Amino acid sequence: MTAQIIDGKAIAATVLNSVQARINARLKTNKRAPSLAVILVGADPASAIYVRNKRLACEKVGILSIAYDLPASTTEAELLNLIKQLNQDENIDGILVQSPLPPQIKDEHIIEHISPNKDVDGFHPYNIGRLAVRQPTLRSCTPFGVIKMLNASNIPLMGLDAVVIGVSNHVGRPMALELLLAGCTVTSCHRHTKNLAKIIMQADLVIAAAGKPGLIQGDWIKPGAIVIDIGINRLADGSIAGDVDFNTAKQRAGYITPVPGGVGPMTVATLMENTLLAQELQETRLTNLTSN
Ligand code: NAD
Repeated sequence: MTAQIIDGKAIAATVLNSVQARINARLKTNKRAPSLAVILVGADPASAIYVRNKRLACEKVGILSIAYDLPASTTEAELLNLIKQLNQDENIDGILVQSPLPPQIKDEHIIEHISPNKDVDGFHPYNIGRLAVRQPTLRSCTPFGVIKMLNASNIPLMGLDAVVIGVSNHVGRPMALELLLAGCTVTSCHRHTKNLAKIIMQADLVIAAAGKPGLIQGDWIKPGAIVIDIGINRLADGSIAGDVDFNTAKQRAGYITPVPGGVGPMTVATLMENTLLAQELQETRLTNLTSN
């Protein structure tokens, strides 16, 4: 068997086109374009590339992206002060703080201070909680992007035995919650999991988010299983690889995502959709307030 390759780039392009069309429709009715504040602290080269891709996507769909490139010496108080201003600014719909942050700034402190209504990354405990209680609002971009990708590939999820490898707050945990919401039976694995291979061998759907190149070997994959590789690992030769040994896994899987060109573009496309949604939700709130 050779797996069907899920083309994340192509699916992301359809999502971006639909966001662009919705924004164009807004502009025709004299509404303003959505706006996204993109904060980059320091000069980490990988972060600079991610931020550039996000800004380019904004340009493509018609979202106004406002760049805040801050020095690596920025203090937590300074960043919190900027977040406070952006929370209060009615012309800002979404706030994105690129991680990792320098060691003097605690990720969790920053996320908790972003208004949940502007948390387009879907990382705020409020938004994770909404997902946990089956009332999702702004959903974490990578996990929700994976769900969209599976839906676009007409893969039914209800009742599947799914395994997520990785339990981070930003990726693995919300991914498990998304799969529960979609009706899967979910097993979460992490660095202390015993018998990873045995657990993966029983899965209909394997989602890798460990950040360990080649961790998931091809002969662990149940024949016909769906394999989604979230991992992005830079190898010594400068190339990018996922967590799954792609060449061997594709011999057994039914569907598989490549790295690059799989989940990555879906993350960016979902961020664009979330920014538009954040604006729409804010408008609904303001309308409700004025009509009360
Ligand atoms: P993280 O380091 O915060 O978490 C890694 C998780 O993997 C942890 O829960 C850890 O317990 C688990 N893990 C590590 N080694 C393991 C092992 N040997 N067996 C089982 N579990 C193991 O990383 P993260 O932020 O969750 O990101 C995970 C990966 O996804 C990284 O490669 C990251 O670059 C990538 N990523 C990709 C996208 C995308 O758009 N494709 C977005 C975000 C993150």
